[in-house]
Amino acid sequence: MKIGILGGGQLGRMFIQEALKYDDDFYVLDPNPDCSCANISHFTQGNFNDYDDVLAFGKDKDVVTVEIEHVNVEALAELENRGVKVIPNSKIIKIIQQKILQKEFYQFNQIPSPEFEIIWNADEKVIFPLPLVQKLNTGGYDGRGVQILKEEGDYEKFWKEPSVLEQLVDIDKELSVIVAKNENGETKTFPVTEMVADPKLNLLDFNICPADISVETQIQIDEIAQQFLDNANSPGLFAIELFLDKKGKVWVNETAPRLHNSGHQSQEGNANSQFEQFYRVLKNLPLADTTAVGFSGMLNLVGEENYLGKVKYQGLEEVLKLPKTYVHLYGKTETKPGRKMGHINVLADSREELMEKLIQVKSLVKVVAE
Ligand code: ADP
Repeated sequence: MKIGILGGGQLGRMFIQEALKYDDDFYVLDPNPDCSCANISHFTQGNFNDYDDVLAFGKDKDVVTVEIEHVNVEALAELENRGVKVIPNSKIIKIIQQKILQKEFYQFNQIPSPEFEIIWNADEKVIFPLPLVQKLNTGGYDGRGVQILKEEGDYEKFWKEPSVLEQLVDIDKELSVIVAKNENGETKTFPVTEMVADPKLNLLDFNICPADISVETQIQIDEIAQQFLDNANSPGLFAIELFLDKKGKVWVNETAPRLHNSGHQSQEGNANSQFEQFYRVLKNLPLADTTAVGFSGMLNLVGEENYLGKVKYQGLEEVLKLPKTYVHLYGKTETKPGRKMGHINVLADSREELMEKLIQVKSLVKVVAE
């Protein structure tokens, strides 16, 4: 099969890396000829937000997919009209692209998501009570485009753009669940992962699996996963980001129509990874077993503050001496503060051991410039 991917970042790279064990050809469209996928795929330089570029790229492929949601959906819809398989379909990508449509989707389908109000234009009067979270309709990514307004004075920083105003959730845990559906309608869910913050070290980037949650919480999440897949009307692999509030109720924060950072530990931590599962979705194959093989965790390798230029990974050899510790780099040559350059997966026999190992790995490694 000719598999076309819009976006050539690390998600695409790790997908191709996994899927190369099967017999297919992988094509990538990305504006950056140095992107993570450029050297390992049939690469086309182009803009995945441009109608003509996407159409030209997709028209001779057997299946077209995305590793980023900000793509030209009109072109994807035209590809669908012409009989090209697009997974996930253009309709659900369009809904997810816009926070307003996404919130309306949850509301319409009775999927629990925080209360909200929609602001379409700058002069609209806000009636939503403080504290609130303002989320831009489009253009937000990795924490940008989201801000909390706590008191009257905070209205000074209010963005006068189409956005969602959302109730501030009293968060106990941030969780994520990766779900998959193939064209036959078969569905499979990964064990829930948890983002953990270590207050002492101010670490916000550990992701661990399985999450430490109650049976009641798991039941709520299973129901949300099912409701989402039933109503998305599309095959695909999706990451549903969740909040567990302090009263024990689960809310959907947002969904990604693609592979996700919160599933990286599945590379070694589950019987099959999210990348294997995604391949099976694209080819409409029986979905893979997602059982956790033990406790697994993931640490993002991000560019340190104040370093810009050719990347150097300090301490990586020390990390490689540790058992059940796996390094994944994304083929990016230049580091900058906060840039995701790679990640490290760790396996352990208990949650305590896992946390200790993650903290140890974190203390050993640093992403700097030469
Ligand atoms: P992004 O798409 O940029 O990752 P998110 O919508 O996931 O943005 O928001 C980023 C972070 O902001 C979340 O991980 C969470 O910590 C916080 N956040 C977002 N929405 C809420 C909310 N309704 N209540 C409390 N915290 C929130």
